[in-house]
Amino acid sequence: MDKLKTNSTNTIILVGMMGAGKTTVGKLLAKQLGKIFIDSDEEIQRRTGVTIPHIFDVEGEEGFRQRECVVLQELLKREDVVLATGGGAVLNPQNREAMKQGGIVIYLKSNVHDLWQRTRHDHNRPLLQTANPRAKLQELYEQRDPLYSEIADIVMHTGKQSVNILLSRLQKHLNDSSNPSQDGDNQSMQTLTVGLAERSYPIHIGSGLLNCTELLLPHLPRRRAVIVSNTTVAPIYFDQLSEALVQQGVRVSSIVLPDGEQYKNSESLNLIYDALLKSRSERSTPLIALGGGVIGDITGFAAATYLRGVPFIQIPTTLLAQVDSSVGGKTGINHPLGKNMVGAFYQPLAVLADTTTLNTLPDKELRAGLAEVIKYGLIRDLGFLEWLEINIEKLLQRDLPALQYAIARSCENKAEVVGADELESGERALLNLGHTFGHAIENGMGYGVWLHGEAVAAGTVMATDLSWRMGWLAAQDVDRVRNIFKRAGLPTIAPKLGEAKYLELMGLDKKVADGKIRFVLLKSLGHAVMTGDVSPVLLRQTLESCSA
Ligand code: NAD
Ligand code: MG
Repeated sequence: MDKLKTNSTNTIILVGMMGAGKTTVGKLLAKQLGKIFIDSDEEIQRRTGVTIPHIFDVEGEEGFRQRECVVLQELLKREDVVLATGGGAVLNPQNREAMKQGGIVIYLKSNVHDLWQRTRHDHNRPLLQTANPRAKLQELYEQRDPLYSEIADIVMHTGKQSVNILLSRLQKHLNDSSNPSQDGDNQSMQTLTVGLAERSYPIHIGSGLLNCTELLLPHLPRRRAVIVSNTTVAPIYFDQLSEALVQQGVRVSSIVLPDGEQYKNSESLNLIYDALLKSRSERSTPLIALGGGVIGDITGFAAATYLRGVPFIQIPTTLLAQVDSSVGGKTGINHPLGKNMVGAFYQPLAVLADTTTLNTLPDKELRAGLAEVIKYGLIRDLGFLEWLEINIEKLLQRDLPALQYAIARSCENKAEVVGADELESGERALLNLGHTFGHAIENGMGYGVWLHGEAVAAGTVMATDLSWRMGWLAAQDVDRVRNIFKRAGLPTIAPKLGEAKYLELMGLDKKVADGKIRFVLLKSLGHAVMTGDVSPVLLRQTLESCSA
């Protein structure tokens, strides 16, 4: 780590398996940093004038490795380069030592499934020209992963996320002088963007953000704000936030609602309208939601509708709100005939997720939030799932850097999905993994008996089980999913409501199209799909075997 602290070297070395994205990432990183990009494989081809498969043919792997060693030693002497190395360069101890000494080593870590998807049509990879390239990749991964990890200063888990997100994470590691090492060990504030053209907005994530008025002031041009909170959160955090704002000359008023999902209704909404009208709150005065998802949803809907729309800022204080409800612009209230049945899409101007507020969150609520965090890994980010499998205990212990990392990575995933499908006409629906079963559990038990996250956990196990019955997942995958929820302290067995009850409740689900129940299922871990084609027999088997 000393290398990073003293910044004594200016060479960056990318290591990782074939297909991990070393060339793509390396080129862009070099451009951003004003360095020269060199790909050691390309350099070997340039020098020999023939392709790598050809060298393998003529000289065998050993011949190629010798050439690689010579080229690498030489390239590492150059200044100001970003060097992408061949996947097998780490096999040679001499190369490993040279890389360790030669610059900052970044390991782009991918899982075997993603690597296989990215390399299977590529015929320039001589080692993969075998009968079962996937098994070969697995074997190479097992051999090389420990070697990459051994020499890496920074380990970046790559997933389905765009290369831009990966780059900004990398940049942050490189800029940070404080103990970077593993992806996720980082403490200073991070800012992500939800990309929705002129309605794009930042999500700031870090500790102590309630005091960072500079993040709010640009959105308070008239130096006025109304903070909406509840009777649990306001006593803990209202003064801190409002005093910081008042010191900056902002006039702050408050609306404090009773706490609970049962108050996410039209009466509470009217309380907000009443207070705003009585205080003659103007169209330019932002509403700031300070609380969990309930406060965020109802405040957002009030902001969307009061005077046909006033500015809105989210300060989520539960894990669920920080990773899910505060991002994406869904706002609304419950109706006696159904949850979240009245609402609007209305995006905030900014989201501030202060990780320190999670210190006062009850354990049960923290765990419920983790269900949605794990969900992102399962539907589109296997690298994140793997990170969670290593770090779940840290999250339960409220290790702030780990929480910040998990929140940021969750928001990156949600922001990407929302950016691509704001109004849920397609991909956004995949965020509902486990929710068809989960809503049936919540509703069937009577709202409030099971927390949403708890129902989602058991529901996701059901969706996973069904995916296995469809022939998409292996039995070990189902175990893996059950295990991570179990370790997060979440239920993995659904209540026995009876098959008929489940079917009835699921028929009420919002995702029903043409009378068919539509499910979000997993084609593989990290890859969700929506399907209406589920055999009733398999569904019944899942309902039977996953409940007790
Ligand atoms: P919540 O808002 O009810 O908060 C849970 C409990 O924690 C409450 O008692 C709350 O007062 C308390 N609390 C909040 N922050 C605290 C803190 N820092 N310290 C101590 N206590 C704290 O529940 P939630 O899980 O945050 O949100 C659930 C709601 O979010 C549901 O209404 C759900 O429909 C909605 N939701 C919306 C979206 C969306 O996209 N808009 C997505 C998911 C969920
Ligand atoms: Mg949810």
